[in-house]
Amino acid sequence: MTQAEQALQTESKVVERTDIRNVAIIAHVDHGKTTLVDGLLKQSHIFRENQQVGELIMDSNDQERERGITILAKNTAINYRGIKINIIDTPGHADFGGEVERVLNMADGCILLVDAVEGPMPQTRFVLQKALQLDLQPIVVINKIDRRDARIDQVLEWTQDLFLELATSDSHLDFPVLYAIGREGVAMYHPEDERRDLQPLFDTIIKTIPAPKVDVEAPLQLLVAALDYDDYKGKYAIGRIVRGRITPNSPVARINRDGEVSRQKVNLVMAYKGLQRTEVDEALAGDIVALTGIADANIGETIADVDYPEALPAIAISEPTLKMT
Ligand code: GDP
Repeated sequence: MTQAEQALQTESKVVERTDIRNVAIIAHVDHGKTTLVDGLLKQSHIFRENQQVGELIMDSNDQERERGITILAKNTAINYRGIKINIIDTPGHADFGGEVERVLNMADGCILLVDAVEGPMPQTRFVLQKALQLDLQPIVVINKIDRRDARIDQVLEWTQDLFLELATSDSHLDFPVLYAIGREGVAMYHPEDERRDLQPLFDTIIKTIPAPKVDVEAPLQLLVAALDYDDYKGKYAIGRIVRGRITPNSPVARINRDGEVSRQKVNLVMAYKGLQRTEVDEALAGDIVALTGIADANIGETIADVDYPEALPAIAISEPTLKMT
């Protein structure tokens, strides 16, 4: 390493954002995703009572102060004992434009939800394959174990076979498995455990999904992973802040997929809270935000520091391999 490189290394301020987890939820339609997320949202209020403050948690609550308007969003953010869990909903359908990859790319891990009767289905397989290609740390949840026709052992075996086939590293085979009745708001480490609440799932998310390790002082970079619109604020560019920080009403560079740079201005910065998006004064690397004001933003583009317009690498898009059986 040259001295210049060494100097750069010591200057970079990589921090572990122990106050955040970004997790994608993957499931075949009807395997219980909506019900489970709803349960997590409801129960997060119970666990909020005895928050553990201090410790390694950054003072992000001060920095990421809430402002005015809130808007209903598709992603969900849940607060569990002072840690913000961004739950990223993944489109389950086969797509040909890399939409699934970009959305998954916002996460550091994934929850694979599998119905205890049906077992893994084509959408389970399709999205899990993408998640493992992006090296997301998996958690398996076998859901609906209350069903009379549940075949838990068999479904676990099928799921393990799927991982054996799709894993791209050994660490992917070392995943925690939980058993859930999403509809009753319970998750267990073993099917025969006492049915209490979703705490085992909350704890497994915190323990298993890596906290983002990011440089919050570096020049801003965000990859636009999704877009949203409403009549009130127009277009929202949604993505994870890869490095740096972003504030409302600030100039940014937009870099399109041909590498062309244009100067733009961010209007609002919105973070996720519960089922809503809420304006914040500032957001830091590691978090997922929705930006307004960038009317011509497109998926796959980079939003960067206006003085250091460096594009993020494009996400490798593999050919769809969905087998409809
Ligand atoms: P999604 O399509 O993955 O979002 O699935 P939903 O959350 O909408 O659930 C699909 C259906 O499964 C609904 O009728 C739920 O009530 C039902 N369901 C969800 N969780 C459970 C469960 O733990 N046990 C049983 N028996 N049914 C469930």
